[in-house]
Amino acid sequence: MDGTGLARRSVEETTAAAAEIRLRTGTPPCLATVLVGEDPSSVTYVKMKRNRCARAGIESRHVALPAGSTTEDVVAAVTTLSKDPGVHGILLQHPMGPHIDERAAFEAIAPEKDVDGVTMHSFAAMGFGLPGFVSCTPGGIMRLLDAYEVDLAGKHAVVVGRSAILGKPAGMLLLGRNATVTYCHSHTADLSSIVRQADVLVAAVGRPRFITGADIKPGAVVIDAGYNEGNVGDVDFGTAAERASLITPVPGGVGPMTIAVLLEQTVAAASRQLGLS
Ligand code: NAP
Repeated sequence: MDGTGLARRSVEETTAAAAEIRLRTGTPPCLATVLVGEDPSSVTYVKMKRNRCARAGIESRHVALPAGSTTEDVVAAVTTLSKDPGVHGILLQHPMGPHIDERAAFEAIAPEKDVDGVTMHSFAAMGFGLPGFVSCTPGGIMRLLDAYEVDLAGKHAVVVGRSAILGKPAGMLLLGRNATVTYCHSHTADLSSIVRQADVLVAAVGRPRFITGADIKPGAVVIDAGYNEGNVGDVDFGTAAERASLITPVPGGVGPMTIAVLLEQTVAAASRQLGLS
């Protein structure tokens, strides 16, 4: 499954939508990025997201907070952005450091600006099947499945991983589309036998080549959300590709879709806040 190509098409549409907003309102969509400290990979991620915004005609405003910032400092900075009518979406990069109450910081994001889908409001809306912003990586996974017209109803979807930003919402979105969902995690007994039953497998573990072809049901659709050191996914692509009907590569699968969804949701947020939709 070509995440790079799909993301490119999605970003083209988002770019056109951003230009339309600017034309009709005189205001470009704006994403605020907040970074606490100078963790090198976080710095790189934020820089990359801001570059991608610029290319799509989305303004970005960056707030850099020192590593020693307290939870109150982060909450105050995010609250200011939540109230600023010139900012339509907020991306709070994490991890923020062990001394910060990350949940409190995320909850300072106004729901209508939660384009990264990290607040309890967004999570609950997804759970109830109500409109709202989804966590970007699970959102990207669903767009890939839709683009390849994968019929999910009645299929056994197995999600390996249950983090709040990835595994858990991915399973909830699949459930919302009438798949029968099983979650696996670090306490799961006989994980291989469950993975082998998957018609649709989502690997979101964070362990390089954790799932091999021997555990892939012939014909299964395999989504590898993992991204590990050395650009390696959670699935052993070579052996898994021999049995899967569709499979995402790493890199070039889920990763590009994550950023495409972030941009798409930022433009949707701007459109709503500027009264266009
Ligand atoms: P995480 O918070 O560390 O969660 C990992 C999950 O995997 C946990 O639920 C954990 O179970 C489970 N797990 C760990 N070891 C396991 C084992 N031996 N057997 C079964 N389950 C095991 O990670 P995450 O943030 O969800 O990220 C997962 C992967 O996706 C990482 O490679 C990350 O880099 C990648 N990712 C990619 C993108 C993207 O844009 N492409 C975005 C986000 C994350 P417990 O809950 O029991 O601990």
